[in-house]
Amino acid sequence: MKRRQVLAAAMLVPLEGLAQTCGVVTPRQTEGPFFTPASPQRASLLEGGEKTRFVLAGRVLSSDCKPAANALVDLWHCDEQGAYDNQGYRYRGHQFTDAQGRYRFETIVPALYPGRTRHFHVKVQPRGGRLLTTQLYWPNEAANRRDGIYRPELEMKLAKEEGSFDFGV
Ligand code: FE
Repeated sequence: MKRRQVLAAAMLVPLEGLAQTCGVVTPRQTEGPFFTPASPQRASLLEGGEKTRFVLAGRVLSSDCKPAANALVDLWHCDEQGAYDNQGYRYRGHQFTDAQGRYRFETIVPALYPGRTRHFHVKVQPRGGRLLTTQLYWPNEAANRRDGIYRPELEMKLAKEEGSFDFGV
């Protein structure tokens, strides 16, 4: 291989790799009827006595693949019976990403409720940037196929009781 060909081949590989891991803008989804503004700032939504435990973690990345530090991540979801707390802030909370753009919530596995597959609701906003409202899904959930809002691009990567998702903003 000539030097020019080697350089060209070397450049192709990282570009393809980047396209798959970042630079993808996360699709927007409906907020739904149960968003409550001004949720408490906290990393754990656990109240004690829950039967399930789940960690949702990941990063917020800008379109040029840089970590978005201090980005807002606001999470809300229903309880283990499929009900939302519309009076208070049970299973509602927000936090800001660290210097590497990371966020991490401890919470439960929300139940399915009529008409919907299992999902989290999330709002993400980089500092001074546009607010992204979307939802996250469990892979291999049978009800995904019957839910008209579900999108495969919004599935978390699952490992035991942990789901990871990187938001592209
Ligand atoms: Fe919902």
